[in-house]
Amino acid sequence: MIKTVIIALAGLVIVFWIGLAYWVNKDARRRIRRRFSVLLATVVGLVPYVGPLVYLLFRPAETRDEARSRDAELAALEAQAAPRGPTCPECNAAVGADYLLCPVCTTRLRVPCAHCDASLEPLWQMCPYCATPVAAELDLDGVLTREAHAVTTLSLATETADL
Ligand SMILES: [Zn+2]
Ligand SMILES: [Zn+2]
Repeated sequence: MIKTVIIALAGLVIVFWIGLAYWVNKDARRRIRRRFSVLLATVVGLVPYVGPLVYLLFRPAETRDEARSRDAELAALEAQAAPRGPTCPECNAAVGADYLLCPVCTTRLRVPCAHCDASLEPLWQMCPYCATPVAAELDLDGVLTREAHAVTTLSLATETADL
C-alpha cells in the first residue's frame, strides 16, 4: 500500500517536472529567436523545479509576437510623424501642395491663376484648370525705360518746336 502511494507520488513529481520543462521550452520558443538560447533555456528548465523559476526570472519581457506588433506600431507612428509631401525649398517646412507661399518663411511658392485663382507652379505657362495663359511678370524695368525714352523724345520735340 505505502509502496503504491510512493510510486504514485514519484510519478506525479516526474510528470510535473517534465511538464514544467515542456512549458519552459514552449515559452522560450515564443520569446527567443536564437535557437541556441532556446536550447539553453530548455536545459535550464530541465533542472527540477528550480530551473523553471530561474527561467522565469531571466526570460525576455515580451513575446516575439508582441515585439513584432510593437515594431509595426512604431513604424506606423514614425511614418505618420515624418512630414510627407512637398516642403518649402528655403526652410524645409511642410507645405500644402497648393500653398501660394510658405507660411513659415513667406517664400513665394506658387502664383494664383488670374482667371480661376488656382495655384500654379511658377514655371507653368498656362493654367491647367481653365487654360488661361499665365500673364508674364510685369517687366517694370522695360516699362520705365520706355517711359523715360518717351519723355526725352517729347521734350526734344518741344525744344525743336520752340526754336
Ligand atoms: Zn519656408
Ligand atoms: Zn485658371
